[in-house]
Amino acid sequence: MRVLIKEDEGMVAAVAAGIVADRINSHTGDGPVVLGLPTGSTPLRTYARLVEMYKAGEVSFRNVVTFNMDEYVGLDRQHPQSYHRFMWDNFFSHVDIPQENVNILDGMAADPEGECRRYEQKIAQYGGIDLFMGGIGTDGHIAFNEPFSSLSSRTRIKTLTQETIESNSRFFDHETAKVPRQALTVGVATILSAREVLILATGSAKALAVKMGVEGAYNHKWTISALQTHPHGILVIDEAAAGELTVNTYRYFKDIEQ
Ligand code: PGA
Repeated sequence: MRVLIKEDEGMVAAVAAGIVADRINSHTGDGPVVLGLPTGSTPLRTYARLVEMYKAGEVSFRNVVTFNMDEYVGLDRQHPQSYHRFMWDNFFSHVDIPQENVNILDGMAADPEGECRRYEQKIAQYGGIDLFMGGIGTDGHIAFNEPFSSLSSRTRIKTLTQETIESNSRFFDHETAKVPRQALTVGVATILSAREVLILATGSAKALAVKMGVEGAYNHKWTISALQTHPHGILVIDEAAAGELTVNTYRYFKDIEQ
């Protein structure tokens, strides 16, 4: 695992956007570049930076196919807090990605299990995901793979923990009752099957999850720790999110980067 420790959120976004753009621009295969993408507060600046790069002619999304990590169960795609809306409002509407290249789980699917199966099949049809970008929850989750999720899980329906419901209530007028209880989410193994995994974390609220992911044991309590088994895992964090790492760990990654 590579851990890049950057000064602040802006630098994390610049580095993450640079990695995404580089993988798109250096793609040599016949097919499209396949990206896995997250929602949440953390990637917002990265999306904004990618939009700037697109407008400056530095990257194009014409040959990019995307698969989002997750979607709330019971929110239709026009709901202001649906991840469909988030992605179109914050990213897709501002770049040249063809609409048919965007894949997001349907939280209103009549057959959620069938929807999850189809999602995995579609990823496989594209030959897998080249780069999966994600964030971390304060409880160490990646996508909605909450503590004690199977580390070999695939796309499925999951129930959110109280911690996640409380954390996400900030998007639902701070009313936990309005937060959906379930989500469709890619599994830990879906993420780890990508050829490269890029995880972002900023702010001191993520410091413990970062510590457990980097220094803790491979364990289903902190699903981020599964990144330790990936041959090309990159964690890009700011100083605040690095705040719980031991001094030795911190210095090691700082030295290596230089
Ligand atoms: P956040 O969410 O970026 O809004 O902090 C990350 C996550 O829960 O995975």
